[in-house]
Amino acid sequence: MKTIQVLAVTPEIFPLIKTGGLADVTGALPGALADHNVAVRTLIPGYPKVMESIGEGEAIYIFPELYGGTARLIAATVAGLDLLVLDAPHLFNRPGSLYLGPDGKDWFDNATRFAALSCAAGEIGRGVLPGYQPDVVHAHDWQAALTPVFLRFGGHQVRTVVTVHNMAFQGQFPADNFPLLGLPAGAFSLNGVEYYGGVGYLKGGLACADAITTVSPTYADEICTGAFGMGLHGLLRARHNVLHGIVNGIDTAVWNPATDDALAQTYDIRSLGRRVANKRAIELRFNLQEDDGLLYCVVSRLTWQKGLDVLAANLDTLVASGARLALLGSGDAALEQQFIEASLRHPGRVGVIVGYDEPLSHLLMGGADAILVPSRFEPCGLTQLYGLRYGCVPVVARTGGLADTIVDANEAAISAGAATGVMCHAADSGALNAALERTQRLYTDRKLWAALQRAGMKTDVSWDHSAARYAALYIQLLKEKQA
Ligand code: ADP
Repeated sequence: MKTIQVLAVTPEIFPLIKTGGLADVTGALPGALADHNVAVRTLIPGYPKVMESIGEGEAIYIFPELYGGTARLIAATVAGLDLLVLDAPHLFNRPGSLYLGPDGKDWFDNATRFAALSCAAGEIGRGVLPGYQPDVVHAHDWQAALTPVFLRFGGHQVRTVVTVHNMAFQGQFPADNFPLLGLPAGAFSLNGVEYYGGVGYLKGGLACADAITTVSPTYADEICTGAFGMGLHGLLRARHNVLHGIVNGIDTAVWNPATDDALAQTYDIRSLGRRVANKRAIELRFNLQEDDGLLYCVVSRLTWQKGLDVLAANLDTLVASGARLALLGSGDAALEQQFIEASLRHPGRVGVIVGYDEPLSHLLMGGADAILVPSRFEPCGLTQLYGLRYGCVPVVARTGGLADTIVDANEAAISAGAATGVMCHAADSGALNAALERTQRLYTDRKLWAALQRAGMKTDVSWDHSAARYAALYIQLLKEKQA
């Protein structure tokens, strides 16, 4: 059978450049798809960190003029990833964050930067690279979502997929950006990028892609409703027949408690007792009192989405129950402040590290008893999957991918040996408190707790199943094209 050639287009990819779960997905999926006869090449912007990682590379194509400057495509292989890097210094060679300028606001030219990424992807999709014609172009999130628009309105037949990792980010810009895009006038329409009088990048992608995926079946249903669709639910409902929910996996080689260098002590399902060394290491790092009681962790962006304001408001109750919290996160300044104040109010019981620290996130999974993910909405969520893999029991809100990946420890699930975590209603103080109390009760029964940990560790959180679903989707798209 002929190998399917997929061009993935993404603003982030692990291990080169990451601000969230999207990077983990685009970094892990190519390896998983290779086992399913799919070869993935990934187009990413040439941010300074990316340019450093690829070294010299090989320039294989030149765009004499791409939205205000010359750009090159550089082919490189990093960490087993087959990359095409869009080296466009006028758009991507700048210090600081990927999406935000030094003033903390979106870069003034984000509309241009990510139109350029999509436009370049469209060119590759139509076959400008000698000897390379992708069968499918797979665009991730709004930053890449104009790709199917360029292809559709350019009259090109290559099959396209858009994956939504989070409906909250849509790439909406004023209408006067439209002439800059270089699309035909007809693209400013219901079937193209027009969105409430402005330009919607994700909207355009969702309208033009042959298939739409999002990162869990529950979120796929949720985004067809007004409460979660963030204005695009009508379009998604209309395109429901091409919308698929495919849950994310994790890289089980990177996330493996038996071999993880970031842990003070490695362990496996037969040696859970060894996790205690990691608990001690966490206590030291987070200035927590040493004790064997329930230790929760949080590893998260601190934003409204994650429901951590509700947790912050209930920290006194958490501490009063005898539990402790180690929180690693950054984001919203007011939330950071709230958690720092809680740590001052409860010295030794609440430890907070503001920042982004990949190894520390591993240690937390390897030593905390439970991970809290009380999100208001959660397209898939990865940290609960790390928790499962590390025997760090997830305590989560019943929404999106959290609902799809955790089995609540209700009576039936406990007696069937299927329970892997604790679930509660999202964004509800009373529900969260009840879940914390329930978790405390479960923890007190150490045999039961160990059963939860083991059931979680046995859950398949790898990419195997989901990569097979993506591969099946690509095959289906190619069959439809032939028909
Ligand atoms: P989102 O993409 O909405 O931020 P996910 O759970 O899908 O949420 O993915 C978040 C990813 O970022 C996970 O890999 C998580 O471990 C990581 N992460 C988030 N915050 C931090 C942090 N402060 N330090 C280290 N890793 C973090």
